[in-house]
Amino acid sequence: MTEQPIREALDAAGRVPSEQDLDTLSRQLNRPVRDVVEIGARCVCGNPLVATTAPRLSSGIPFPTTYYLTHPVITAAVSRLEAAGLMNEMNERLAAEAPLASAYAAAHDSYLANRDAIGERSGTGAVPEIAGVSAGGMPTRVKCLHVLVGHALAAGEGVNPLGDEALQAIAEWWTKDKCFCVGAWDTEGQAPSQDRSRHVKTQEKVDPAIKRAERAAKRAAREAAQNSGEQK
Ligand SMILES: [Zn+2]
Repeated sequence: MTEQPIREALDAAGRVPSEQDLDTLSRQLNRPVRDVVEIGARCVCGNPLVATTAPRLSSGIPFPTTYYLTHPVITAAVSRLEAAGLMNEMNERLAAEAPLASAYAAAHDSYLANRDAIGERSGTGAVPEIAGVSAGGMPTRVKCLHVLVGHALAAGEGVNPLGDEALQAIAEWWTKDKCFCVGAWDTEGQAPSQDRSRHVKTQEKVDPAIKRAERAAKRAAREAAQNSGEQK
């Protein structure tokens, strides 16, 4: 990986999540948020657009997807692009256009540099299990546009070429110079405080290698438990 400067849209003060930000994130996602250490990007009105999660969860699990798009207007717009097949088009272009491929590879490196910095700041430190693993399909594929848009918003323009393109493509539904928050989520009553989302569809599947390692660890634990007669 080449050395990449840390690129962040918000300054240190802007990144600090307030109680109100966390409440808003829970409302935007309709579930309580956990392990959010910073805000990655904000609406012109100040509301969060992107939640930043530490590279290791408080449960100890390594977490490669640092930036999570939370604003319902943006997530819905990006879902429309995915449904329209934009990812296939991007993948074809990545295979055919060398300058795009190299800019996208640089975005992957930049993502990792940002994540290292977030790990430092949040006290997680290095997370060797996910070294070199970013998200969204980077560095060579596009598997989740939400991840790329989250990165583009958190890093600012000019870092993730395909995230920037996706933002352009949703301009009829959302642009960063205007507030689209009114009515976008339920602001009445209590914020979701119980996890009602056992089967929440995540934006990014965990890297298969990590999944395999986790399954192997679980299997080993199960077998150890069986051998010791604690469990059937
Ligand atoms: Zn707003």
